[in-house]
Amino acid sequence: MEKTKCLIIGSGPAGYTAAIYTARANLSPVLYEGIQPGGQLTITTEIENFPGYPQGVSGLAMMEDLKQQALRFGTDVRAGVVTACDLSQQPYRLTIDDSTEIATDTLIICTGATAKYLGLPDEQKYAGKGVSACATCDGFFYRKKTVAVVGGGDSACEEAIYLAGLASKVYLIVRKDHLRASQIMQDRVFAHPKIETLFNTNTRGLFGDPFVEGAHLVRFMGEQNEEKFDIAIDGFFLAIGHQPNSAIFKHYLEVNEQGYIKTQWGTTRTCLPGVYAAGDVADPHYRQAVVAAGMGCIAAMEAERFLNK
Ligand code: NDP
Repeated sequence: MEKTKCLIIGSGPAGYTAAIYTARANLSPVLYEGIQPGGQLTITTEIENFPGYPQGVSGLAMMEDLKQQALRFGTDVRAGVVTACDLSQQPYRLTIDDSTEIATDTLIICTGATAKYLGLPDEQKYAGKGVSACATCDGFFYRKKTVAVVGGGDSACEEAIYLAGLASKVYLIVRKDHLRASQIMQDRVFAHPKIETLFNTNTRGLFGDPFVEGAHLVRFMGEQNEEKFDIAIDGFFLAIGHQPNSAIFKHYLEVNEQGYIKTQWGTTRTCLPGVYAAGDVADPHYRQAVVAAGMGCIAAMEAERFLNK
């Protein structure tokens, strides 16, 4: 079986930053790209808040830059998805694509998180054409326009308030008759003159050609007083939660109630020696590329120190 000193899983900002640091430290890292090479940023439009790109950069271009930087220092970047793992003893063993096994002294998990979608076919149809799951990433493109945010939690309220600072009007589409968000966030939403909350409302579909021009909604779905109606919008934002991609590690690592891998405060150390978690898979709070990159750096330095001991 192949054996490596440092195995990195995931190819978002955390994974590639960990790769750059471990490669420069001569750990000869192997990185598996995972299901979505380049990670979540490859599905956003433009990135304007990552330091170092004064004119902004497309998500694809930035991830390609990070990949080239990791390759430059000798990272062995491979296509492949980790489908199983045995972290019960060292060296740790992982299975790639249900076939290849690889053993490693240190493991840096950067598998990210996946935004939840409603599951409507129109979400795919209008991906990059008005549908987004990241207001901080894409909100800027909706200045003085009308947008809708779906969700009733803190994320949805936060995104609605953020977007209300840019857009001329924000609909908050909430499936229940109340918000789940903290009281302070609710108060802010209700007090904001640009935000209109639509309670008891679900989304049936989107329309527009080629970009989103509106949403088909339904109030009191399935009840006697069910009412179908449309709203005109330019952007449709999902804020119904994220799912950390931690499922295959759950047997071995501590995760919180939402599935985020727990790390020791201020580090990327998990409960197992030599196993680190960086980026969105271990970050329920910030979910920003620059934070993920910072965590990748920390994980790499921790792995190097672990191996030096
Ligand atoms: P939550 O799980 O808290 O909320 C998800 C929201 O989306 C709920 O209102 C839920 O509705 C709704 N939803 C889920 N699925 C659907 C669906 N299929 N159709 C319509 N609506 C749907 O996720 P968040 O991302 O908001 O928050 C995650 C965690 O992060 C929370 O603990 C939150 O407090 C925290 N957080 C804190 C922030 C802060 O303090 N500033 C900012 C952001 C997040 P329903 O209520 O009906 O289930």
